[in-house]
Amino acid sequence: MRLAIAGFALESVTFLPETTDIADFSRGALSGNELVEGLAGTNTSVGGFLKVCKAEGIEPVGLTNAGAGAAASASEAAFDKYVGEIVAGLAELKNEVDGLLLHLHGALATPSRRNADAQVLQAIRAEVGPDFPIAVAFDLHGNIGQDVVDAATVLAGYHYSPHTDMAVTGKRAARMLIAKLRGQQGLAMGYARPGIILPSIFSATCLEPLATLMQHARDLEMHTPGVLDITIFCGFAYADVPDCGMSVVVVTDGDEGLAQRTAKRLAGLARDWRSVLFRRELVLDVATGVSQALDLAKRAAKPVCILEHADRLNDSTYTLRELLARQSGARVFAPFMFDPECAAACVAAGTGATVDLQLCGKTSPQAGGPLSVSAKIIWAGQKTIKVTGPLYTGATFNLGPSAVLDLGGGVMVSLISIQWSAIDRDPFDQFGLVPEDFDVILLRSKTHFRHVYTPLCEDILIVDTPDWGPADVTTLPYEYADRGSFPFQP
Ligand SMILES: [Zn+2]
Repeated sequence: MRLAIAGFALESVTFLPETTDIADFSRGALSGNELVEGLAGTNTSVGGFLKVCKAEGIEPVGLTNAGAGAAASASEAAFDKYVGEIVAGLAELKNEVDGLLLHLHGALATPSRRNADAQVLQAIRAEVGPDFPIAVAFDLHGNIGQDVVDAATVLAGYHYSPHTDMAVTGKRAARMLIAKLRGQQGLAMGYARPGIILPSIFSATCLEPLATLMQHARDLEMHTPGVLDITIFCGFAYADVPDCGMSVVVVTDGDEGLAQRTAKRLAGLARDWRSVLFRRELVLDVATGVSQALDLAKRAAKPVCILEHADRLNDSTYTLRELLARQSGARVFAPFMFDPECAAACVAAGTGATVDLQLCGKTSPQAGGPLSVSAKIIWAGQKTIKVTGPLYTGATFNLGPSAVLDLGGGVMVSLISIQWSAIDRDPFDQFGLVPEDFDVILLRSKTHFRHVYTPLCEDILIVDTPDWGPADVTTLPYEYADRGSFPFQP
């Protein structure tokens, strides 16, 4: 048996004015044998596909895999290029592969495509026909529509956020398709929506009652004969698309009624709990969050984490401005802030130099505006890291021009030139820094950081800002999302 392998993934923040273009996707894009060799052993969906192929004696055929994390909508040119490459690869392989294992995020959008993941699948179907076996592994934050379910043979999404189960999800999707191809089982899918637009900050699967909801799904998988796989998608609130929001997909061994009933049951439970899924009491304003963090840091044995969660592009300055203004003397570090312009200026000036910078806050008017700082360059240069953390383990990221800066008064930042959040120890370890040396660590991840930073930190204080990923989604200018959903309607 031979299976084609491909991916095209983006978590699209459609409110951002720019688009994510070919140059952004091309950095990590792999095709052909490079895809197979480069992603084998990684904790990614494709890494999971490859592991199952190896275990089952199946030959993987690499097409194209590209992704750009969480950023503005994909450009039409990027969609056409990467989807075009996948479709062309399948056209070339016609009759020489038995199916496709595909990784999509589920929150892909372009300015003209508000159901872009469905359109990826439809473009593939137009080439290979309605019966060609396609398994898709999605992110937990996918905005999954009925059109996506209709176009896939089978699909599965991550169960956890932080997404420690990326490879496991790839394996689940691949195994279900392979068993069907071998005639060992049928496949049917059920789909239901609870009508909830959940902000990412409340999608951490360790938070109650989301943790209990997820456990219900695991129990149903375990104890309901015929139920093979369940995904409760949390959706991605910052992609303004008609299918924005939570959804449930249930896969059975062929029993459509059971799949549908089970999906409806879980969506109903989520619906019942809609109000308590929003843990609003955990979210502070910036001034209160900074005060509490500095107070706690005085008596804490471990660093205190402040989470500026509404920042989608890793450059917002609200909390850093407040921390600088306090002149508290606390040792503060804000790792992996996005500012390619300043990073390049620091690389040009060189390690040891002092530079005046207009730092960060530039990606949109919502980012808080740049900070005027005089910075001592602790280190500057081109940086490539091999991820050692629990997510994307083993993957290589070229951060581009990068710098570690001392802004004075105990406050340090590091700058990188790609969209990547600090979620593990790499922003410290790979730059000769030690997280435990700091009193306050300022992060921008939504949930992924928790796996490493919950044990590392004394506490995690979440602050809300007027940026593009707020906890109060009713402040966003939605045009396409269903305003009949909670929390727009009770
Ligand atoms: Zn996600």
